Amino acid sequence: MTTTTIDKNLDHLARGILSRPGRLLIAGKWVSGASDELADVINPATTDVIGEVSIARDVDVDAAVIAARRAFEDGPWPRMTAGERARLIWKLADAIDGHSDELATLESLNGGNPFESNRQFDVRVAAERLRYNAGWTNKIGGMVPLAPTHGELFSYSMREPVGVVGAITPWNAPLIMAVGKIAPAVAAGCTIVLKPSELTPFTALRLGELAMEVGFPDGVINIVTGFGADVGQALVNHRDVNKISFTGSTRVGKSILAASADRLKRVTLELGGKSPIIIFPDADVEAAARATVAGIFFKSGQFCAAGTRVFAHRKIYDRVVAEMARVAKSVRIGDPLEVGTDMGPLISAAQLARVEAYVDGARKAGAEIVAEGGDTVGRGYFHPAMVLGGLKVDASAMQEEIFGPVLCVSAFDDDGGLDEVIKLANASDYGLAAYLWTRDVSVVHRMARSIRAGSISVNGARGAGNEGLPFGGYNQSGIGREGGSLGVEGHTEIKTVNIAI
Ligand code: NAD
Repeated sequence: MTTTTIDKNLDHLARGILSRPGRLLIAGKWVSGASDELADVINPATTDVIGEVSIARDVDVDAAVIAARRAFEDGPWPRMTAGERARLIWKLADAIDGHSDELATLESLNGGNPFESNRQFDVRVAAERLRYNAGWTNKIGGMVPLAPTHGELFSYSMREPVGVVGAITPWNAPLIMAVGKIAPAVAAGCTIVLKPSELTPFTALRLGELAMEVGFPDGVINIVTGFGADVGQALVNHRDVNKISFTGSTRVGKSILAASADRLKRVTLELGGKSPIIIFPDADVEAAARATVAGIFFKSGQFCAAGTRVFAHRKIYDRVVAEMARVAKSVRIGDPLEVGTDMGPLISAAQLARVEAYVDGARKAGAEIVAEGGDTVGRGYFHPAMVLGGLKVDASAMQEEIFGPVLCVSAFDDDGGLDEVIKLANASDYGLAAYLWTRDVSVVHRMARSIRAGSISVNGARGAGNEGLPFGGYNQSGIGREGGSLGVEGHTEIKTVNIAI
């Protein structure tokens, strides 16, 4: 197959923002941070430096929070009608559509994911997420009970925006993550200070530019960049931030929850996962195996809801493994801006080392590589797609989030009953997603009721596939939900009013 690179003009467009280093979006202005410190940002496919990001300081976070507070209380924002706010959010969605090639290119250059996948998935989801949330601006509200329970009262409850939101996002889907924080916050009437990952700040910064262009009032959306331990922590500790919305690792999520306790900040946490894929003997076995391997190519396995623990019924185990091996061998790993690339690199040298350490550890614990594919290419942080077999349920690779293109597969024996496989599926500290492959509708319902996870996908349905429904985790995969009405409501407080008649 001949391969072509993406149009160089798009590359040039995306490079516009890369050449504007060291800027923070505070109160509608692009400003330098209090320190001149910049950090290199690299393209993980080449290890080349593609730009620089400003390392903000506490005073910058403070300025951003003050700007957000002013915009929340005094600016045109609180006086806008719901319709006016909705129109602005729609305009931002249209701007994303209008810049889809540019944004997809930027995601490839900075995040390492294939251009076409960025365009078809990330950019589309980002625009739809905004439009979905825009629809809530005039629909969220309170209740008026039919009749008072005590005396002659007229009582009602109302929802109010929670205030200033501090949002912190990871590197694995930077545009979707930034939009996922901004959309429900502004739909609820909040203002926001966003801190994107220091590794992938550029699409969030470009989103900030687009938000300014479409007319968001100054201070409604602020963006500060830098490292988690200082700028992220400063946002979490800030006394004038009402809610922290965090997506990232369970380790950091726990520290944020602890730090938020002091002021009882509202906290939403979207954390890690170790999601099971269960293939029953009546399933379309080849389709299940293909989708399972394709799923781990997606974002090179750096996807919170990725299915990573595969349990195949013993009767079809060999067929599943054979098809996985066939598909894994055909994966094209390479430059994300090359047409035809299935899988790009991991995000960083540290992430590559982490994945390699898990594979080494698993092999020492007796695992065998039952399927492997894709040659690692060039200087980037590439790792082959890999399926490990023969691991015990309590092995690290079966319990911990590897966040790379590595699946663990094992067989289960249940005939008739489902107890064994339910136990296997639930043998995890996480609980983000689960994937089922069966044609038996009773098995689907029984499994869906028994698995402790925030989303269940059946026969190839995508997890997190519907903006109208909540997304989030059981157990240590998080607290709270994003998406659906709950996502917007999570950015509100409820007040009850009783009036004596
Ligand atoms: P991470 O926790 O290391 O960092 C996430 C963000 O938090 C970054 O912006 C980072 O700078 C910041 N941060 C780090 N330490 C901080 C601190 N002490 N205080 C405040 N902020 C701090 O996560 P990552 O490595 O960037 O992302 C990968 C993780 O994100 C994986 O565990 C993945 O499962 C998870 N994730 C979850 C979801 C979900 O919806 N559940 C979605 C995407 C990613």
